[in-house]
Amino acid sequence: MTAETLNFIDGRFVPSSSGRLFENRSPVDHALISRVHEAGRPEVDAAVAAARAALAGPWGRLSVQERAAMLYAVADEINRRFDDFLQAEVADTGKPIALASHLDIPRGAANFKIFADTVKSASAEFFEMTTPDGRTALNYALRRPKGVVAVICPWNLPLLLMTWKVGPALACGNAVVVKPSEETPSTATLLGEVMNAVGVPSGVYNVVHGFGPNSAGEFLTRHPDVNAITFTGETATGTKILEAAAGGIKATSMELGGKNPSIVFADCDLDNALEVTSRAVFANCGQVCLGTERVYVERPLFETFVQRLGEIARAMKPGRPDDAGSGIGPLISLGHRDKVLSYYARAKEEGATIVAGGGIPQMPAGLAEGAWIEPTVWTGLPETSAVVREEIFGPCCHVTPFDSEDEVVALANDTQYGLAASVHTRDLQRAHRVAARLDVGLCWVNAWFLRDLRTPFGGAKMSGIGREGGLHSLEFYTELRNVCVKL
Ligand code: NAD
Repeated sequence: MTAETLNFIDGRFVPSSSGRLFENRSPVDHALISRVHEAGRPEVDAAVAAARAALAGPWGRLSVQERAAMLYAVADEINRRFDDFLQAEVADTGKPIALASHLDIPRGAANFKIFADTVKSASAEFFEMTTPDGRTALNYALRRPKGVVAVICPWNLPLLLMTWKVGPALACGNAVVVKPSEETPSTATLLGEVMNAVGVPSGVYNVVHGFGPNSAGEFLTRHPDVNAITFTGETATGTKILEAAAGGIKATSMELGGKNPSIVFADCDLDNALEVTSRAVFANCGQVCLGTERVYVERPLFETFVQRLGEIARAMKPGRPDDAGSGIGPLISLGHRDKVLSYYARAKEEGATIVAGGGIPQMPAGLAEGAWIEPTVWTGLPETSAVVREEIFGPCCHVTPFDSEDEVVALANDTQYGLAASVHTRDLQRAHRVAARLDVGLCWVNAWFLRDLRTPFGGAKMSGIGREGGLHSLEFYTELRNVCVKL
């Protein structure tokens, strides 16, 4: 019998009241994983009401220390059920087990611990002032939860990105309603079991399944009793959600798309630059918001770099998640593959030099129905090409030569996006100079995806609004109240 994935509302797993179910299929072989109960307005209303009620109940009266202790317990329970989360995440995404066990699941647990630590040690403002009549007044700020927070999630790192929001939201005393991606509903649902197991009060954590427009996503973001929306996904979707938020003057945090550059100077450590850049392009089959799709290489190194990056791409063997020899998994879905392939076709039509890949790999029987795609490297397109300008979200990059620092900074910044960049050089002064000139939220030097969760995370320009991470998350998930006491 096919498994069913239910909504999680007020501490209980509940079916769709409309009886509408949608299919969750494996990107590896298109096999049916589960049938998912779509939440309509009644379920979204019930989830928001449960969250609101939880704020007024025991959850709202816990001390910071008690909340933090509960979040440590959540992290421990995720780790205790590590294999269940791993299996669910790998089934939904098709990503290699080696990647999910190293990154997705450990970070899912760590996101609760780090924000429990952060909230315990956060201080608030304090100012002493002189009053007009010559006396003194003390001002201090109290951090209060925002209230009911809607958490709208993408499919590329489902547990990691969802807990990146839920961890700090709960640490700050909010209650959440999560809308996972329709492509990856499983780990958010499983987290409901964890919440119940460790005694998080009913209604604090809720999950509603469905799509965006005219479905759970839109019902939630337009809901009048939601106080804040935290969103990770495409810039176009972010625009729609901002419109929905405007109606209710809801606080928003937007982590959106990118078209991130890697800049490789001729004086770099070539082996390191290749290893880092190939990870930035191909990791998670190119489905990482921080990933690189534009590579700029200083001319003396250009031919060598392109040749070696092409060799790395050709050597990556796609395979099942449990195949230790597999270097790359499939894309998330056949629909997403169609989108990525449309850029592959466009690159060809526009006369790109295809250094590696460019199509669909030959897969053995049993996997042929999956969303497999070849890691791809192009050169020779103008910077005006859609392939170089638009986010593809696949395992591909275009490599362009450059001659000067000023030229490459201008090329890197010539985009509507501003999420992340990597700079490869042994010249320390140049590294600092270029990092300061790039219009991005995150810039790595001789590295990529190295994350300290206390640091600010977010995008510039059309890659987002706001910063999360460490104390920055507390800024979003709390309302600061100033208390002024005349002495
Ligand atoms: P998406 O925007 O298509 O969907 C994200 C979520 O929004 C899904 O849960 C979807 O159902 C929901 N949604 C869609 N329309 C909606 C609407 N009108 N109202 C409410 N909810 C709606 O994104 P995706 O394809 O799942 O993820 C890939 C995108 O996410 C890429 O653009 C990637 O760059 C971006 N991303 C950004 C970051 C970051 O931190 N900046 C991280 C990961 C992914």
